[in-house]
Amino acid sequence: MDQLKQRSEILEQFKWKIEDLVSSDKVWEERFENLKKEFSKMDSFKNNIKINNLKDCLSLRDKISNKTMILYVYANLKKNEDSTNSFYQSLASKSESLVSLYQSSVAFLEPEILTLDEKELLKAIDTDLNLYNQYIKNLLRTKKHILSTEKEEILANAYEISQSADNIFSMLNNADADFGHIKDENGKDIKVTHGNYSMLLENSNQDVRKQAFKAMYKFYYSLKNTIATTYTSSVKADIFNAKVRNYNSSIEHALSETNVSLDVYKNLIATVEKFLPVMHKYVAIRKKRLGLSEIHFYDLYTPIVKDVDKKITFEEGKKITLEALKPLGEDYIKNLKDAFDNRWIDIYENVGKRSGAYVWGAYGCHPFVSLNYTDTLDDMFTLAHEMGHAMHSYYTTTNQPYVYGDYTIFLAEVASTVNEALLMEHLLKTTENEEEKLYLINHFMEQFRTTLFRQTMFAEFEMIVHEKMEKGEPQTFESLCEIYKNLNIKYYGNDIVIDEEITWEWARIPHFYSAFYVYQYATGYSCAIAFSKKILEENGTEAYLGFLKSGSSDYSTEILKKAGVDITKKEPIEDALKVFEQLVDKMEKIS
Ligand SMILES: [Zn+2]
Repeated sequence: MDQLKQRSEILEQFKWKIEDLVSSDKVWEERFENLKKEFSKMDSFKNNIKINNLKDCLSLRDKISNKTMILYVYANLKKNEDSTNSFYQSLASKSESLVSLYQSSVAFLEPEILTLDEKELLKAIDTDLNLYNQYIKNLLRTKKHILSTEKEEILANAYEISQSADNIFSMLNNADADFGHIKDENGKDIKVTHGNYSMLLENSNQDVRKQAFKAMYKFYYSLKNTIATTYTSSVKADIFNAKVRNYNSSIEHALSETNVSLDVYKNLIATVEKFLPVMHKYVAIRKKRLGLSEIHFYDLYTPIVKDVDKKITFEEGKKITLEALKPLGEDYIKNLKDAFDNRWIDIYENVGKRSGAYVWGAYGCHPFVSLNYTDTLDDMFTLAHEMGHAMHSYYTTTNQPYVYGDYTIFLAEVASTVNEALLMEHLLKTTENEEEKLYLINHFMEQFRTTLFRQTMFAEFEMIVHEKMEKGEPQTFESLCEIYKNLNIKYYGNDIVIDEEITWEWARIPHFYSAFYVYQYATGYSCAIAFSKKILEENGTEAYLGFLKSGSSDYSTEILKKAGVDITKKEPIEDALKVFEQLVDKMEKIS
């Protein structure tokens, strides 16, 4: 492999044009000084919010919020370009202090709005304050869960304490974790880390996979009682926070953040459950294709077809992506070309560059896309995925006012997954090579397994544990393992060997410390597959573009519904699962 280049050695045409956001560091410094002065303008509204000055106050807030975010994003993107650059490290920390300054300058605003007369406020949002209609409606929705100033202060101070379980687990899992060494297929010593674990599980040698699996779980088992107590403390904090804020349950509290109803959550679990026999069939096909006499959990990640060694340069990747996304219409393609031609993307890796692909930006400027493109098929999928995020942001910020110029986590992975699905359909249609086709089908099926099935299983685990603890049933390491074991049997069927280690898996999932979060991966994935079907089969492009343009101008489930995907119903999830069913049937025929 070539040695990694310094950032300065990479040609300008391959780097993003960050000057589009802020033209120079000098300009950044000037704006930074001026902005701090602007924050004090908010002071005149403090203890003085009325219906007739609210609009001015909110538009001032939006203006300085936007300016703050531009400086914050610029400093952090520059830091991410090369973390060894100390100048941008200090710029980034300056931008962080700017954000806290901003936050404290507007902290009074929302509590004060909630003291206004509700009837008058509702009248105003239909007329003068119409721009802020959804914003204020959403604020009023939470009113009955906001406590007296005194109680809110206590809760704010206790916030850090309620995060303790998460912090403890994170230290244990990152700083203190030691999974020891194993031997690879050539007898070479390998230290197992979080970073290489998934690669080791993809190894074609079963013994390597097994060793990695055993090594990883041995660590968590050695701390079993500590981790069980850490996790149940986190659940107790969830229950406490829901109770003091007058929610019926911790799950209702968590879902209310994006105004998602409990039905959406339960509907996901129930609909996936109906398709579990298809998952069981997939496990059986895996077992057969891998030629195993028994299949274990450490056999679930290794590809069941040979890796394709096809090189796809960035130029080819762009061309194929443009071709694949044609069903999204001329306007989308024109904007996508603009993004490609005007350096929205930072394409290659360099020394100190942040790993992992992502999209980020600030209102008023196009988004920025960071990749680490290495000419593989997977990299092309990543390109399509990230451009989905970028186009979602672009359509949102160019069609919505600042206050709705973002979108929720609930919606975030829809646009990216739609692009991946369209690329997949395009490649399946145009690829002649049978081996390549099999590789693609395997890649697609694994997405379904890890995103739709696995995350739903996680979601069900969280729900069961919270419900039990809310009923006053204390949980121990053993009882948590029992719940987890039964779920694994339910989701993967009787064919798979339940090694003791897999019943401990819950103990290593960091997401469980942000309760009721992961279900959004499964609902988002289902919506994306449902959209891609509508785009390809039912003229659904215009409605989908409407979705991309909506930002946060309405509640997430409403935005989806307007675009033709009602996630409160079983149909989108069923539609997605039917695609999985067809893939499994295809694979079965070839096997
Ligand atoms: Zn994404």
